[in-house]
Amino acid sequence: MSSKALDQFLNENLNDLKERGLYNEIDPVGTPNGPVIKINGKELINLSSNNYLGLATNPRMKEKAVEAVKEWGVGAGAVRTINGTLELHTRLEEKIAEFKATEAAVAFQSGFNCNMGAISAVMNKNDAILSDELNHASIIDGCRLSKAKIIRFNHSDMDDLRQKAKEAKESGQYQKIMVITDGVFSMDGDVAKLPEIVEIAEEFDLITYVDDAHGSGVLGKGAGTVKHFGLSDRVDMQMGTLSKAIGVVGGYVAGKQNLIDWLKVAARPFLFSTALTPADVTACTEAITILMESTELHDKLWENGNYLKQGLKSIGFDIGNSETPITPVIIGEEKATQTFSKRLYEEGVYAKSIVFPTVPRGTGRVRNMPTAAHTKEMLDNAISIYEKVGKEMGII
Ligand code: PMP
Repeated sequence: MSSKALDQFLNENLNDLKERGLYNEIDPVGTPNGPVIKINGKELINLSSNNYLGLATNPRMKEKAVEAVKEWGVGAGAVRTINGTLELHTRLEEKIAEFKATEAAVAFQSGFNCNMGAISAVMNKNDAILSDELNHASIIDGCRLSKAKIIRFNHSDMDDLRQKAKEAKESGQYQKIMVITDGVFSMDGDVAKLPEIVEIAEEFDLITYVDDAHGSGVLGKGAGTVKHFGLSDRVDMQMGTLSKAIGVVGGYVAGKQNLIDWLKVAARPFLFSTALTPADVTACTEAITILMESTELHDKLWENGNYLKQGLKSIGFDIGNSETPITPVIIGEEKATQTFSKRLYEEGVYAKSIVFPTVPRGTGRVRNMPTAAHTKEMLDNAISIYEKVGKEMGII
């Protein structure tokens, strides 16, 4: 017999979400997650994936992953610290360190558990963390898990950060203080002010932690936000994910050797959760090899991003202030934003609406993630569908 209390909790909460129109129905995608996908047999131009460089279906990576499965099997067989560290994992970590221009790197099973594990391995209840108010959920959870005092600063507000860093330092209450930020903020596509953050950090002896989930493969000719600003030897912890531009799955931290040595003995997902599979790590190593060989995919991503932005802007949409290929189309009111996205879907474009509480009330947007794999024709089609729906709804 099932628990009555659980049933009551589940039914009440599910009904509440459904009544408020916030219950997210998931439609499985019936094709690889490329620039065009099919959902329930319907063909859609895909502007909602994080597969920035199109690597999720890259032929070289697929071939390497298949070879790895044949040679090494489908599972790593253990957690990293028992005997789940295959030579394949070490190879990937060396490659990440080379790519990021750091002494060493360590890979985790996802970006999310990497943030949970790495933040809580370094910070504890005697410490404080200065966290940008728009940081990703996995950063927030990692900070909470650490039990450090969390001090939020206004989004990319360097005066606020400096003031809070000064107060925290001068209070003498904390053994260590960290400043943590996304490199690229995925809701608006804006870039963290890393040169100023690093200066403040150096003034007040803050540990610097950059989550570059959306910057890797995109900025710094592919090497990320830290490299973009030429700060590779001035940021302590460069975190990233292998699931977005790299196209596979996993997360990592790159930094000095002593940091990586510590994470390998203290980060709990590394110690207690089974290692990434042979296929995953081999495909990721190949992805980084591809990015280090040529900037072709990176350049194509930017060309497509600029093309889409220009196209949407020229027909009258408000596309915000993105500094990266991420292209939000600001609609405003929540319901209108959801209807807009639904109409795009009906017309053949998959672009998700993002509304309160993910973004402030009244700033609902449809977020577009163009990739290197889109053709001009696909983008032109998407732009004309945007124009049709925008005119129909009186937005342009
Ligand atoms: N950090 C940021 C900024 C992200 O956007 C995401 C993914 N949404 C993650 C971490 C988590 O990465 P992963 O999907 O690899 O778990």
